[in-house]
Amino acid sequence: MNHIVLDKMVVKDNRVDYFFSVSKNLQKYFKPANHLFLQYNYDISDLPPSILAIPFVANVVPLIWITDSTLQIRDLDQSFYECLGKIRDAYQAMFPNVTFEGRIAVDTVVNNSYTPELEAASLFSGGLDALTTFIRIRDKKPILITEYGWHEEEIEHSDVWEADKANAINFAGVHGLKNILIQSNYGTFINAGRTIDYDFNKRLGDSWWHGLHHGLAIISAAIPLAFKLKIECIYIASSNSPLYQVPCASDPTIDNEIRYGSGRVFHDAYELSRQNKVKVVVDYYSGVKQPANIRVCFKKEENCCKCEKCLRTIMGIVAEGHNPADYGFYIPHNLTQHIIASLNDEVKFFTNTFIIIYWNIIQNRMKENYDNIQLRELADWFLDYDFVAQRRRALLIYRVTKFYPILKRKINTQLTRIFEQSN
Ligand SMILES: [Zn+2]
Repeated sequence: MNHIVLDKMVVKDNRVDYFFSVSKNLQKYFKPANHLFLQYNYDISDLPPSILAIPFVANVVPLIWITDSTLQIRDLDQSFYECLGKIRDAYQAMFPNVTFEGRIAVDTVVNNSYTPELEAASLFSGGLDALTTFIRIRDKKPILITEYGWHEEEIEHSDVWEADKANAINFAGVHGLKNILIQSNYGTFINAGRTIDYDFNKRLGDSWWHGLHHGLAIISAAIPLAFKLKIECIYIASSNSPLYQVPCASDPTIDNEIRYGSGRVFHDAYELSRQNKVKVVVDYYSGVKQPANIRVCFKKEENCCKCEKCLRTIMGIVAEGHNPADYGFYIPHNLTQHIIASLNDEVKFFTNTFIIIYWNIIQNRMKENYDNIQLRELADWFLDYDFVAQRRRALLIYRVTKFYPILKRKINTQLTRIFEQSN
């Protein structure tokens, strides 16, 4: 049976390094260093090894299950150990074409129960989902957890992390909250792209990172500090809704089963559509005198205002009768002209699902809320926007301007070669 063994955990001040070995057949799934680390803005050197082991187990356990392997660990927290079976069942229900088996061999299962002293911590990226969850649970005074998991072997400067961190610290300051800041290489220490995805993508119908890894990686990174600070519940904002059920590693059926010490996890606001969340956010900010900044652009320092996600958030805000400029979308020139040009260009990449679960909902909300819309010119243009027809048109333009010149160049190169060879 294949195995992964946690050989050594090195804990120093605010950082833990995990060194592990894997059997030969599994090595291709990992970067050669076999090393995972987590660094916090709190000292963690006093935490029990059975708690510190949780993030390591959480990051590799889906791989143990899909490869029917054994994970060997010295100490593990009892609550976490006992919830693993339910998490595996939830994955199994989500991905019926892959069998989730394997075994977690623990030398000592440790009871780490405590009496909670703080009600909540909440994962906080500054995006629409995270803001919505913050607004819903703000009375619990959640500690905000912000993470960056994309380092390689060592911590290196990242403008994206600096911007995320500055935003989270500023937000916490405005609301009188504390921050948990976590840096790691959980997004890079597994070599998924060409190996796990190559072996499993077809049967899973999803990628390793999206379907199996990211939810557990993100949540488990926070668990050592949730234990240290005796937090009752870690909240993670939903990014999906029942409108469109997709397999996803971050799902209520998985997240809500996670336990550690005396703490648990709650997958929040799954019942809300994205447009419902826009309403929660604009309603909240209409009633308070605080600046609003919704950060939606993935791995970017600020919103680009051109990508699908930016555009849909901008139009969602417009549909609720607000101005996107008041929510962190800084469009330099004429907003209407910018949106028309950007949407007409970007629409070629829209999937039918996205049109149905996001864009048509925005259009309907705009119709319903028309009397309150500030940006009428934009609304009048957008209300009758035919996504499918516009996508067809945009794709045609794209092919003519991008594809044919490439084809022409290729033919020319071939002809030149033939000509050269014949001379
Ligand atoms: Zn963007």
